[in-house]
Formats: sequence, structure tokens, C-alpha cells
Amino acid sequence: MSNRPFELDPLFRAITTLPGVGPKTAPLFEKLVGGGKVIDVLHHKPIDFIDRRFSPKLKDAPDGKIATIEVRIEKHSLAPRRGLPTRISATDGTGSIDIIFFSANKDWITKQLPIGEICLLSGKIEHYQGQMQMVHPDMIGAPEDRAAIETIEPVYGLTAGITNKAVRKAIQGALGTLPKLHEWQDAAYKKKNQWPDWHKAMEILHDPEDESGLSPAHPVRQRLAYDELLANQLSLALVRLHQKKQNGRAWKFDGKLRQKILDTLPFDLTDAQKRSIADIDEDMQAPLRMLRLIQGDVGSGKTIVAAIAMMNVIECGAQAAIMAPTEILARQHEASFGEWLDAAGISYVTLTGRNKGKERENILEEIKSGEAQVVIGTHALFQETIEFKDLGLAVIDEQHRFGVHQRLSLSQKSKGTDVLVMTATPIPRTLTLTAYGDMEVSRIDEKPPGRKPIDTRLLPKEKVETMIDAIARQIEKGARAYWVCPLVEDSEVLDLQAAEARYDILRERFGAQVGLIHGRLKAAEKDEIMGAFARGDIKILVATTVIEVGVNVPEANIMVIEQAERFGLSQLHQLRGRVGRGAAKSFCFLVYAADLGQTAKERLRIMRETEDGFIIAEKDLELRGGGEILGTRQSGMPTFKLADIAAHGGLLIAARDDTKLILNQDEKLESTRGIALKTLLYLFEQDQAITRLRAG
Ligand code: ADP
Ligand code: MG
Repeated sequence: MSNRPFELDPLFRAITTLPGVGPKTAPLFEKLVGGGKVIDVLHHKPIDFIDRRFSPKLKDAPDGKIATIEVRIEKHSLAPRRGLPTRISATDGTGSIDIIFFSANKDWITKQLPIGEICLLSGKIEHYQGQMQMVHPDMIGAPEDRAAIETIEPVYGLTAGITNKAVRKAIQGALGTLPKLHEWQDAAYKKKNQWPDWHKAMEILHDPEDESGLSPAHPVRQRLAYDELLANQLSLALVRLHQKKQNGRAWKFDGKLRQKILDTLPFDLTDAQKRSIADIDEDMQAPLRMLRLIQGDVGSGKTIVAAIAMMNVIECGAQAAIMAPTEILARQHEASFGEWLDAAGISYVTLTGRNKGKERENILEEIKSGEAQVVIGTHALFQETIEFKDLGLAVIDEQHRFGVHQRLSLSQKSKGTDVLVMTATPIPRTLTLTAYGDMEVSRIDEKPPGRKPIDTRLLPKEKVETMIDAIARQIEKGARAYWVCPLVEDSEVLDLQAAEARYDILRERFGAQVGLIHGRLKAAEKDEIMGAFARGDIKILVATTVIEVGVNVPEANIMVIEQAERFGLSQLHQLRGRVGRGAAKSFCFLVYAADLGQTAKERLRIMRETEDGFIIAEKDLELRGGGEILGTRQSGMPTFKLADIAAHGGLLIAARDDTKLILNQDEKLESTRGIALKTLLYLFEQDQAITRLRAG
């Protein structure tokens, strides 16, 4: 099936082939390292390390730290019965310490720690009732064993049921199978940066010499990060190269249709909207395919920009389609587009999973015959076999739900079709590069005039009751509120429980004015509840985070987010963006746990200080690092295991430039380096990009 080079085989074996990973622990490992293959374990990098070279006198030994101590054994107080500890008293002249064993074997202890002997012990220093102690030392030896005991051990992120020892054992096993691969890095660049070979880098990654080995600036970490980023950039560039080759069309339009829509608008376009439209017009008039990303905050007015782009191709007799990530959003587009399209006298259909049977067949027929000039639908639309008469433009309104490859393959549906992606979450420039490659980007960085600022308040959870009182008063005056419940671990079930508990509480006070929406409901049920909220039958809508990001209820003017500290800033920003759309003053309450740390507080303060999504996104990246920026894996952003976008932004730019150079010289990756680069792509499981190479 895959053409993966055979030398990579050992890395793609199941983790159960590793020492200490059995059928029981395998799922835990898989969860921990994010995959079930040997390479996934190898990419699980240490986050800390234990330095047993730290060897203080007892009087200086800090609480809670791992240390190696040299002490004389004074006394054995053996456990009087099972379940009680055995206590060994020891001293080094500056202080005393108790070595504690639970269920220890008497003979073993007498032999290991004989009274009067000097022993070397390594373990964690703790205090219990004023007495320094070490419970179950990790290592015991004589003074001459110092070299063997004073080791450095990498420490890994863990999950319940897996110890650091088990991770180390698995990784040691994995390191034993490392193949020597042909170098894919440019020799001069590698030398300049003093990067080791790949296999050497993997070894050192898991055997850091000192603290600096954990730093993203370490040559080993840099090299491995660069490998990952280069694979990412190369893969995106290959897909895009392939797409660009399919010739686009130079559309000839004079804007007659667009004018009809503009005439119906009760507002003028913002300068930012006009700039985006100018970018689009230029792309569409050129003979190359358009692959453009429109970035703009929630409410910045992307929809009308898409509608105008559609008019360009419709004037030329072609069709346009817009797909939304969810049913609700598709229906919402139907409402807003419908108005405009009717005004311009354009026929359209909406197709979602809900259209079945004969009705569906009719819709499909209209799409095929070209009778439907505009098609509005969910992304499912593009996953099945739908035939267009002549699809000129595909607009993907993604709200971050599509993965990179999924997104790109959606646009493969029709050769030469122009593609416009609209994304609601502003992302930092560096991240744009990882998620969209070198797609052209237009930013709508200006909100329509007249938007009132949202009054954002931070609130410890003890004050929730007072807040509810305030909300009650607002509701009486006609307010409507979203109430978002916390993200509990990654479990939808637990999320739901938290939301249900809150729902019950609010229900007691507000009765039938409270509604609950969550991801487990059927699409029709969700619609019904959203509809009730939009009509005002429901005044407080309790929701898990799954509620649909783009839904527009202008009357909603209160947003409550519980345990706000658990969300990414960008996520908070998106949620907040759902209020502040109407005439009334809007509020956003960010409820946090009382014992919040400094950074966490600072993050939430940013939310209070600005409503600019671009600034928030940059800050989020700064404070949290790229991997977590959007909070969840379903965000459609690639997650990196070795690279840390916040720290390796420079490498990303280098990888992009390197990619350009590589593909200019060796588009098919056939040179010696090119072949090695293919191996790199397989190593990072970018097999899809390689199929594009073959497709030519
Ligand atoms: P989003 O970028 O989140 O998709 P929408 O396109 O849904 O935003 O626009 C949000 C609201 O702002 C809509 O009601 C839309 O009609 C309105 N709108 C769009 N552009 C402007 C503008 N230039 N001036 C005033 N209102 C606008
Ligand atoms: Mg939108």
C-alpha cells in the first residue's frame, strides 16, 4: 500500500514490540505519545530531567528535590508489624535523615545499609513532622559507586498507569532499532548550525547531558524541530504545487451582479472588506488558480466578501459553492445569502445531510444541470460524488474545523476551481504558514462601524451567585445570555455532566427560560434549541464548548464562560465574539478558579484589555506555545511534537525558504537529497504529499 522506504520499517512497528509495552499498557502509551507506533514513542521528548549529580550536605538539602547524599548509617528501627515503616537513621555530620521503607525485607536492609557504614543514597528529600527523610531511595550504593549513581535521567510527561521508568524502558528499546538514514538536510546548513545526524540527535534527545539539553535552542532540539517543520512545509508546498498546475481560469466580469447585491446592503463595506475583494478580483482575473485565505474576526463581515467573489464566476456562467462545517452554519448561510441572491436574481440550492431521498435527488440534478447557480452546503457536500455542471469557485467557511489535507483535497473536486477559505480565528503569521503553507492571505482586520465594545469582566467563581443576580436583572430588561461550561479533560461525557449540573441550577431559578445545548444532540434538536434562543423563547442558553461558533443571534448580549482559564485565548475570543452584535450593551464574564497562577491571570487580563483577535492570537502563542494555541486537536491546526512554534518561529521561516529552493531545483524530489527528503516526509507521515508527487 504505502511506498514507505523499508529502512523506516522498525520505526513504524507497533509499540507493543517495545520492551515493557504489553496489550494492557499499549492503549495508555498510545494516549500518552499520541500514536501507536515506535516513532511516536521516540517523538515523545523529555520535559525535564533528574540530576543525581546534585549532592548537598544534609543541612543544605532542599525539600522536594532529588539529591544524592553521603551518610553514615546510625540505627535500624525495624517495622514492628506489617504496614508500618522501617526507619533507618543516618547522618553526615551536618544533619540527620531517616531512610524509610515500607514492607522492607530485614535481611536485605541489613545487607544494603549496615550500621556504621558510609552509604550513598539517591532519592527525593522530604520532610515529615520536622524530620528530614527519604522514602524508598531510588539508588543505594557505597561511596565508590558515585559515578554509577550520579546519573542524569530524562523525565517525561506521563499519564496515569505509566511510570517514567516504563517510558524510559520503551524508549531505550526504540532507540535500539534506530536506522541510519541518508541525510536530508543541506550539508552546509547543518554544519553551520552544528547539527548532529538524525539518529544521533534522537539519541541525545533522550539522554540530555545537562539542563541545556531541554532548551529549544539546543542544537539537537533545533535539528529535530527543523526536520518536523521542513516535512510540514514540504508537504504543504507539494500539495499546492500540484494544485497550481491545474490551470485556473482568467475570469472576465464587470461587476454588474455584484452591484445588485451592494445596492441592497444597508451599509457600506469597510476598507478592509474592500481590500480583500480587490485581492480576490486580482486573483480571479489572472489565469492561475486562486488559493486564498480570508482571515477575519467573528463579525468582521466575511460573508459578504464571499458572496461578491461568487458573483465574479456567476457573471461568467459558472457555478459557485460555499460549504460550512456544520448544518446550522449552512442554514445560516442560506438565510443571509438567500436574501442577496434573490436580489440579484440568482438561483441557489442548499444541500446538507438532512436532504434525503427524492428531494436530494432533485437537488443533485439541479447542481448537475447548472440550474442551481449557487450551492450552499456542509462539507459533506464535497465528500460524496456530487457533479457540478461547471464549478468556478469553492468557498470553504471553516471556522477551523478542517485539517490541512482535508481542506486541500476538498478543492481537488473540480479541476481549476478557484478556492477561497474563510477562517474566523485570527492566527499568528507563523502559524498561518504551518496550516496553510504559502496560501495567499487577506486579513479583514477592521470591524464594521458602530460596534460597541464588550464589557469584559474577570470574576472568581465564588462570585457566581452575585453575577447570576446581575444577569437576572438584565434578563428582565430583555437580555439574552450564553452560558458556556468548562472543558473537563477531553471527555465529552464529563463536559456534558458539568453543563447539566449548571443547567439544573439555573433552571431552578429561571425555569423554562433556560435551555441546554451540547454535541450529543441530533442536528435537528440543536437547531430547535438554537431557534428557540434566537426567537427569545429561551433566554439563557447553557452550552458545552461544542456550540456552533458562527451562529448569529444579535439579541444575545451576555456571555458567561466558566473556568475560563481552561480555554485558549483564541477560543475565548471566538466565544466572546458571539455577543456584541446587537444594539444593547454586551457583557462577557470570565469566571475563573480562585487559585489561579500568575500567567493564567495575565492571559485572562489580555481578554479584558483587547478585542483585537490578531493581538490576542499573538499573545496566546507567546504565553502558551503553538501546540496548544487553539485549545484542541480538532482545530485543524497541525500539532507538532518536536517543534515549538513559539520558540522555533525562525526555523519555520527557514524551512519555508528551504522548501522553495528545494522544489525549484528538484520538483519531483529525484536528486540524492530529494530522495532523502522523501524519507523525511514518510518519517513524519506525510504520505499524502508523496502521492501528489507521483500524480505529477
Ligand atoms: P463573519 O466574518 O463572522 O462571517 P458576517 O459576515 O456574518 O461576519 O457579518 C456579521 C454581521 O455584520 C452581519 O450581520 C453583516 O450583515 C454585518 N456586516 C458586514 N459587513 C458590514 C459593514 N461593512 N458594515 C456594517 N455591517 C456589516
Ligand atoms: Mg461567517
